[in-house]
Amino acid sequence: MTKYFLLLLLPLMGYAQKESLDKQLFQSYDDFREVSIDSRRFKHQDIEPLIDSLKGRKDFEITVLGRSIQGRNISMISVGEGETQILLWSQMHGDESTATASIFDMINYLKTNKTILKNVTVHFIPMLNPDGAELFTRRNAIGIDINRDALKLQSPESQLLKKVRDSLDADFGFNLHDQSKYYNAKQTSKPATISVLAPAFNVEKDINQTRGDAMRVIAKLNSVLQRYARGQVGRYSDEFEPRAFGDNMQKWGTSTILIESGGHFDDPEKQFIRKLNYVGILSTIEIIGTQSYLTTGLDKYLSIPKNDLKLFDLKIDNLTFSYLGLDFTVDLGINHHEIENKNHSDFYYLGKISDIGDLSTHYGYKNLDATGFTFKVGETYPKILNDFEEFMELDFSTLLAQGYTSVSINDMPQEIKFTTMPMNIIDIKKIMIPKSNTLPASPINLGTNTTFLLKKNDQVVYAVVNGFVYYLKENKNNVKNAVVK
Ligand SMILES: [Zn+2]
Repeated sequence: MTKYFLLLLLPLMGYAQKESLDKQLFQSYDDFREVSIDSRRFKHQDIEPLIDSLKGRKDFEITVLGRSIQGRNISMISVGEGETQILLWSQMHGDESTATASIFDMINYLKTNKTILKNVTVHFIPMLNPDGAELFTRRNAIGIDINRDALKLQSPESQLLKKVRDSLDADFGFNLHDQSKYYNAKQTSKPATISVLAPAFNVEKDINQTRGDAMRVIAKLNSVLQRYARGQVGRYSDEFEPRAFGDNMQKWGTSTILIESGGHFDDPEKQFIRKLNYVGILSTIEIIGTQSYLTTGLDKYLSIPKNDLKLFDLKIDNLTFSYLGLDFTVDLGINHHEIENKNHSDFYYLGKISDIGDLSTHYGYKNLDATGFTFKVGETYPKILNDFEEFMELDFSTLLAQGYTSVSINDMPQEIKFTTMPMNIIDIKKIMIPKSNTLPASPINLGTNTTFLLKKNDQVVYAVVNGFVYYLKENKNNVKNAVVK
């Protein structure tokens, strides 16, 4: 009996083993995750020790390619001895760090796992724009967008990338970026958590061997990603940009794969997306090494849905409010903007209305249908508090239920810009007296007021505070932070 059972199982086991690299990578990820990086705003000084720790190892080669404008080392980490040269570079835009974090996860994996390196040599350039990373900003220290500098090469960061591509004559290139979290996979409510592209090398968007191979590899990568983020892969626009690196790499003969990390549900620091990069890219290195992409049809690439820009952090449908005696019913798209601290190391959220009107073509990470609810502007708690300590002692859910969404404070410390409580603060010293003889402003408008109440049967059911929803009935507080005004 047992014997027959095993015989039946054997072919299945073989199949499972052959198919399971990405599954293994996904399941064992925590064993290799670089724990010293756990959010997006890390800096050059955080990755230097990680690179230094590889020096002296026989299996990794570290090359300092040059320096950024402000003098930060830009290094390349190479591993493997195969013929096919794969070059990966990340964070040429300083505020796009997701793939940099995954590169260090990948390096940890490759310290003890070299099977996927058969036939390939892999070269990582993490954080090509360390000066931009310092300020968590897109451009470099002289305000150049490195991804528009592939031809003129006016920046040292661009020069060294071009030089290393030429010296390796790289067969494959991975151009690793982050994109807006508001991209969705076209005509779906799913975010484009990862977007991919085989950039065009001319205006005609011709497909030659180089670009075709990139498309085939991406098709395989997409089928891996679909297992962990179904429906959440988009295809980036392939409009030819003559100054961009991806487009020119393709022209120079390197099959170039653009990977953009977008947004994912409840993943503000993009740690799940970082894991997707890790699983996807390591799997793709194996796909390149074994040349298993060669039999893939281009249709598999072309059937990946395009990117669209139709997502909001919070979408509220059918909100009815009154203004100047008239009732209006609209949809609201609310986004949570990140307001950084001075060191560019942390942030708080400022909710803003990004769009108003018929948003039936749009989607939300979170959604709320306001049909049947009464809109009410939240009121300010009548008692003026002395200080922040007194504020922290309040019972916030009771105040919200009573219709209050802000509290005034007399002696508000200037350095406090937000509160993690679901209640906005009004700094009495900053209150401005509105101009007389003007019409009152609409309670709903672009760029403003993302704090209000939704009532039913005269009870507050939802409090929207700084663009986050507090569901009073279940005491379910999704407010990441309120703001000081
Ligand atoms: Zn970018």
